[in-house]
Amino acid sequence: MSGQPHRLLVTGGAGFIGSNFIRQQLLESNVGETPVALLLCLDKLTYAGNRANLIELGKDPSFVFVQGDIGDSAQVASLLDQYQITGVIHFAAESHVDRSIDSPEFFVQTNVLGTLRLLESARQYWNHLAPAQKSAFRFVQVSTDEVFGSLEAKAPAFTEQTPLAPNSPYAASKAGSDHLARAYFQTYGFPVITSNCSNNYGPYQFPEKLIPLIILNSLEQKPLPVYGDGGQIRDWLYVTDHCRALRLILEKGQLGEVYMIGGMNEIPNLDLVRQICATLDQLRPRADGLDYSELISFVPDRPGHDRRYAVNCQKIEREIGWQPRENFASGLRETINW
Ligand code: NAD
Repeated sequence: MSGQPHRLLVTGGAGFIGSNFIRQQLLESNVGETPVALLLCLDKLTYAGNRANLIELGKDPSFVFVQGDIGDSAQVASLLDQYQITGVIHFAAESHVDRSIDSPEFFVQTNVLGTLRLLESARQYWNHLAPAQKSAFRFVQVSTDEVFGSLEAKAPAFTEQTPLAPNSPYAASKAGSDHLARAYFQTYGFPVITSNCSNNYGPYQFPEKLIPLIILNSLEQKPLPVYGDGGQIRDWLYVTDHCRALRLILEKGQLGEVYMIGGMNEIPNLDLVRQICATLDQLRPRADGLDYSELISFVPDRPGHDRRYAVNCQKIEREIGWQPRENFASGLRETINW
């Protein structure tokens, strides 16, 4: 990459991972090699986006917030041009599996059509850049391990070669966007790099997702819903480890390549819920002296619920030098404290 400072368009930057990414780039030193001159957050502020997630950056001259839709090609084109963007980190999506089961069309609208429009706006802009800027430009497609479907108990973890086999409308729409990103590289030589990451946890996550839901329900002494037998296995990664991986991919990733990102930390959902309860028992014991785990309540399983995800991240470790840093017990405490 050129040594020119980054001027990044971050889509969905008011959501969980996007806001952690923006904060990390602006507030922490030594995250990447090339300095960041500008972070432009474009976010529609759906129910999942929260402007307050970025409140402490309000006065930072390197940060700009714009409320808008990735599918609004005219607005995106004008922002790319106005701010002389050098790369896109594409987080914006509808991201909740349960909502995708109830209303799949929103997911296709945002994740497939929205991503297509964003890719096309960015490609048009990139096409007219001077040669040095053109070769330095990057588009990072931020995706999920859910596009690979479900693993058997003893099957090897997903790799970059695993065929896409999405099982929920959410996963299918993300797989669609990953295919489009790939096609833009293959067809137009547009400089796309894709990452597929496992489940993230950490501060600023919307409380419909498992970990914040369990923490909040516990504190309010409400039932802690566990789907089915709670034996579904997920590979949990602390959100700032994911964000650091994305910055490294932006700077060191090979064009057209896919990188798996994971926590190497497989945990069945029921064990996870018990671990949250045990941590809360220490940090905030219940007034009635009972354990939080007494609130666990099994509910009917989600249709098509994938049994296991696991990610093999040897490629990003070998080629880019990334490894997760946070350990699960301390990351969970951080999340609960937040
Ligand atoms: P999130 O739901 O917390 O945030 C999504 C953000 O996108 C919100 O701020 C929302 O307002 C914004 N948005 C939605 N539609 C938009 C549109 N049309 N235009 C502009 N902004 C729009 O999601 P998240 O958990 O932060 O996930 C971010 C990305 O990372 C998603 O693409 C998701 O698929 C991917 N991912 C998430 C996880 C995870 O565990 N959360 C794991 C791997 C990959």
